[in-house]
Amino acid sequence: MPGTRVLYMEERRGQDPDPCYLREFDAQVIERGPDHIVLDRTAFYAEGGGQPYDTGILRWAGGEAKVLRVQKEKGVIRHIVDRMPSADAVHGVVDWERRYAHMRMHTSQHLMSGLAFRIFAARTVGNQIHADRSRIDFQPVNFTAEDLKRIEHECNGVIASGVAVRIFEEDRVAVENRIEDRALMDLIPQSIRRLRIIQVGAADYCPCGGTHLMNVREIGRVRVLGKRSKGKETDRVEYELLPA
Ligand SMILES: [Zn+2]
Repeated sequence: MPGTRVLYMEERRGQDPDPCYLREFDAQVIERGPDHIVLDRTAFYAEGGGQPYDTGILRWAGGEAKVLRVQKEKGVIRHIVDRMPSADAVHGVVDWERRYAHMRMHTSQHLMSGLAFRIFAARTVGNQIHADRSRIDFQPVNFTAEDLKRIEHECNGVIASGVAVRIFEEDRVAVENRIEDRALMDLIPQSIRRLRIIQVGAADYCPCGGTHLMNVREIGRVRVLGKRSKGKETDRVEYELLPA
């Protein structure tokens, strides 16, 4: 079965904004299920990697449907809709407020994970972002209140520097030579030889398939809300974002 071209994963062209900023697109319906459709191309993010799915609408000549969820199953991206399009040619519009909140949260997660690794050698073993607050699980670590203040301070320092977020492809071998967290690389199937890398200045360098900002300044300000112990040497840190 033909796959779906994932538009936000494509390479940035010239002076265009990164395709993560694509809010609208045209596509063809290539498969119809009882409550979902598959498109030949999409800008909708399918739930995964701690980032929630996008919502939005699909329009066609004479009608429109809500995109309620987007899920990826065995490589197939399904748009769950409240109504079946009566045409194959559709125009998708991503709910930008929700998606942009996820991009801010996701990019700050990279920043915090990278800094916590550099300062405390704490690895990120899980994360879940939401539009209003997010959490990251770190291990091995037992953060003090002072440590959390330091993380917050370091994050906001990088944000204030206005460093660019780079998104690019790199050979797996080069990534393996550079990355310190081996467990992270082991999660990526060996068959994948080219990786999409997200680099946040000197703070983070990490393979990732999510959607990100172009500059850390767009994050605003990080506020760490606290931590909860999740068992032996594992801390769950919760944070929110404030406007710049
Ligand atoms: Zn990411």
